[in-house]
Amino acid sequence: MPESLEERILSLLQNSGGDGVLQSTLSKSLDVDGKTLLRSLSKLEKRGMIKREPYQDGGKRTYRIILLKRSQKVDLSDVLWVSCTVCPDLERCGRGQPISPETCEKLTASIKLEYQRLFSSGAAKNA
Ligand code: SF4
Repeated sequence: MPESLEERILSLLQNSGGDGVLQSTLSKSLDVDGKTLLRSLSKLEKRGMIKREPYQDGGKRTYRIILLKRSQKVDLSDVLWVSCTVCPDLERCGRGQPISPETCEKLTASIKLEYQRLFSSGAAKNA
């Protein structure tokens, strides 16, 4: 599925520094005309994803586009300790089912082990 212009804008901003990107630079980088870009920027601004700040680029007035909500990068190794990641019953497990996270001893044990690991490393005290 092709990326929407909004997704491409967010991706470009995500990979830029925290100072944002000039609107004119975005237009050139994404190879879109100013009117089309402005429509997408307005949508993102209404959703609270970006903000536009007036900016003087030499003698020209433009806007600096700043990303407000950076997506969090999740490292898979952060959750590999959860017993569910290797559980043969994963497909049959669900809330209110005979096999359920609410009653699962394997899940309880893996949470306790992880807590002990974090506690002994001092990470749980600082959380
Ligand atoms: S909650 Fe227990 S039974 Fe369910 S998927 Fe996780 S480890 Fe398996």
